[in-house]
Amino acid sequence: MGISTPPSRGSLSESSKAVNEQSLCLCTPFEDTTCFRCCPPIRPAGYDHLNYISSLKREFRENRVRFLQKKINLGPVMGFFCWGLGYLDDRGRRVGCLLHPAVHNGRDLRYLTGYGDKCRREVCLQAKIFNELPVEARRFWLEMTQGLSSFYFSSERANPLFHVLLWGESILEAMFEYASGNGLSCTELVWNFPFLADPKISPRKWKYPILKIIDTLPQREWKDFRWDTFFEVTEEEISSKKQRFWHRFFSGNAFTHLVLSEDAEFADFVRFFLGMSRCNDRKLRVMKSEVDEVIVKAIQKV
Ligand code: SF4
Ligand code: SF4
Repeated sequence: MGISTPPSRGSLSESSKAVNEQSLCLCTPFEDTTCFRCCPPIRPAGYDHLNYISSLKREFRENRVRFLQKKINLGPVMGFFCWGLGYLDDRGRRVGCLLHPAVHNGRDLRYLTGYGDKCRREVCLQAKIFNELPVEARRFWLEMTQGLSSFYFSSERANPLFHVLLWGESILEAMFEYASGNGLSCTELVWNFPFLADPKISPRKWKYPILKIIDTLPQREWKDFRWDTFFEVTEEEISSKKQRFWHRFFSGNAFTHLVLSEDAEFADFVRFFLGMSRCNDRKLRVMKSEVDEVIVKAIQKV
């Protein structure tokens, strides 16, 4: 999992070095900020570390002290707090996995919690998307998290980047290029295109239609495009088509994301806009051209 690549490769008492630009990742974004949102891997739905900040601070301090005293065999984790999670530095700024090989000269001690394999395997979707971006784009999008401590950075509620990254590489890169070409900071870009960070607008639902706009409209027209109206018109049209015609395509046993594994944006549209997690392969392809037609008409109408 994410904390698996802390920049500090030394002992627990050593303070972190500047984050290497090329290895800039979402798990260790700044010198004094780390992410621990996905630790431990099994948490109740809707869990947010920020709700437990006081008790977690105490726990992270205690876990660190225990590690420095080499008392590190506490058995499997019970519940949703992990005894392997603690402060990586004396100042209590960086939170991370105290069992990670990076802090034990290559020895992986995560198995002690019973979560070893899961910890090694898991990387969140946002971290994967972030890694696909060029370094300049990563730095640009990180701007919206400047000043967040590790606790706030690790909160889905407090950190808007977790929402924004779900727009995916193509949209994030296109928006980054727009901002670069127009001399906008990340904050200014989001001010001009507020839908990007609007928690009411699901990126996985809207990614496909937004990509159509980006592919169809020249950049110079983006600023004056009536994005709000586009969302309204498209929502209305797609819902109506779904009710009148497309509902019959919902039959079928194939998993949508597998059928459309080569077309991830449309797969997300089918799953998150139309609510079809299973589908009929052949009919889906017919539907795609009809969906495209609706979207292009909505762009022209707006
Ligand atoms: S939630 Fe994502 S970004 Fe955060 S530590 Fe886990 S993998 Fe990294
Ligand atoms: S063992 Fe380390 S990586 Fe795994 S849940 Fe605990 S703190 Fe996180």
